[in-house]
Amino acid sequence: MSQVDQQVINNAAEILRQGGLVAFPTETVYGLGANALDGRAVAKIFKAKGRPQFNPLIVHVGSLEAIEALCHVPAVARKLADAFWPGPLTLVLARKSDCPVSELVSAGLPTLAVRIPAHPLARTLLKTADIPICAPSANRSGHVSATQATHVSSDLGLRVDFILDGGKTSHGLESTIVAISEIKTPDIANDTSQNNEVFLLRAGAIKTSTLENLLGYKITKRTNMIGAQAHAPGQLESHYAPATTLRLNASSLHKGEALLAFGPNQPKHDGPCKNLSPTGELEEAAANLFSFLRELDTCKASRIAVMPIPAEGLGEAINDRLNRAAAPRP
Ligand code: AMP
Ligand code: MG
Repeated sequence: MSQVDQQVINNAAEILRQGGLVAFPTETVYGLGANALDGRAVAKIFKAKGRPQFNPLIVHVGSLEAIEALCHVPAVARKLADAFWPGPLTLVLARKSDCPVSELVSAGLPTLAVRIPAHPLARTLLKTADIPICAPSANRSGHVSATQATHVSSDLGLRVDFILDGGKTSHGLESTIVAISEIKTPDIANDTSQNNEVFLLRAGAIKTSTLENLLGYKITKRTNMIGAQAHAPGQLESHYAPATTLRLNASSLHKGEALLAFGPNQPKHDGPCKNLSPTGELEEAAANLFSFLRELDTCKASRIAVMPIPAEGLGEAINDRLNRAAAPRP
């Protein structure tokens, strides 16, 4: 790589470290990248794409060692990693308790989707930035994925701070996504014809049969998203929902409630309270949403009262998440 190229990558890496958005080529499609450790940077991805919902994002990492700092990597995951990384395979693994990646990246799930991309520019960017980069496809929500830098600029324009131009991406097919459960049910653990720790979440660039040939057994397909800690179908949770019930659009507090506040006009409250953004910024609120919900959920409050959040911009996705958390449970 020439001096100029490395200089361009240095700039892109610096923008990422400073919390900006950088579009970069991978071997699948162009990704819209942000520093996965920085919740506000991650929130910018949803804003730029105009996504009305928070869905979990894939984290791109440069090495298996870097992944081990974030997630539990059981033996079967290591086997898949050795065979297919760098490459278009995404593994959904259990987050470590001290995982520094923003909870917004996981959309509140206890898992993280990770992969080591093969594209040389993506790899150099990851090495130079030296941070995990979360990146969905670099297009507006509902539009087709970008396979050229010009697609990114015409679709996202000034919503992206920098576009690393690597020409056309090679195959345009998405990565294959496999979830790994940490736990095998003991009664089938020794049965080599069955397996309950590897699940196919999305078919993609690596064929299922190729994975099955390596593993020596059939992989169960799952269309719903699962947490890697869930090990019985009844426990599968598509999204994190707090155990404590929520009361939305609260302007005052009832006795025993915890408060999830937003903006400067917070009602007086002696009980547990977190303010998503005291200055009323939606990016900050999105960055804090999942960790604050989780924290208030541990307070043993009778209910969590949530102040109104404006419905524009990122507020749409925040309200979607809150509405679903407040919906009656089966
Ligand atoms: P893309 O927007 O093409 O990068 O797709 C990301 C895919 O990864 C989506 O289908 C997500 O649902 C899936 N995904 C990301 N993180 C997780 C996770 N923790 N658990 C399950 N699926 C995930
Ligand atoms: Mg997409």
